[in-house]
Amino acid sequence: MAGPVGSEPQYRGARRRLIEVLQAAGIHDVAVIRAFDLVPRHLFVPTGVRHRAYEDSALPIGNGQTISQPSIHATYLQELGLTGRERVLEIGTGSGYQTVLLSHLADQVFSIERIGALMEPAREAIRACGARNISLLQGDGTLGWAAYAPYDAILVSAAAPKVPAPLVEQLAEGGRLLIPLGGRDEQVLQVITKRGGATESRALGPVRFVPLIGAHGWPS
Ligand code: SAM
Repeated sequence: MAGPVGSEPQYRGARRRLIEVLQAAGIHDVAVIRAFDLVPRHLFVPTGVRHRAYEDSALPIGNGQTISQPSIHATYLQELGLTGRERVLEIGTGSGYQTVLLSHLADQVFSIERIGALMEPAREAIRACGARNISLLQGDGTLGWAAYAPYDAILVSAAAPKVPAPLVEQLAEGGRLLIPLGGRDEQVLQVITKRGGATESRALGPVRFVPLIGAHGWPS
């Protein structure tokens, strides 16, 4: 009889080793580690690269896009320090992996992806994981998702030349926006906090992301 989804024994050891790599890289938040333990990353990558699913590396997911490196996801999630009560918006669903990690750490997750062809595999993997607190939208995430705003946290998984104004508008008071800002090839991950209508930003370190394409991002 098959076990629960993602529990295949051939991946269990690899997932454990990935968690050790994350811990060695400074990820200590117990809830974040638990989320990585619960979510089967191999379901979110194409079969051709499935044997590499638990390496700490970005992998191709088709349409010129990538599933981000696990240690980058972990850094984003640890930085947010979610309590489980938050409403979170993710821009750039991609494979849906980070979306499901978020579903274990927040109350409600809203996620937007620009490329329609990526939505179906992401939707299927999310369904296979049994996550029920995720809403997906295909469209330009630089416009945000006003219907469910304000958000306690917004995570942008693609690199922008500047902060998209609608995302700041849709951030709750005290809310945090994580976004890679800079050129098309190299960026700095910034955490932007909204207080009293103004914003404060703090640089977390250099990163490399695919471009955020849209009305408030790069032209296509
Ligand atoms: N967190 C994702 C994962 O784990 O698979 C990372 C996906 S990839 C690094 C970034 C994604 O952002 C791509 O799928 C890309 O199509 C998407 N993207 C780029 N511009 C976008 C936009 N304006 N709105 C929504 N998604 C966008």
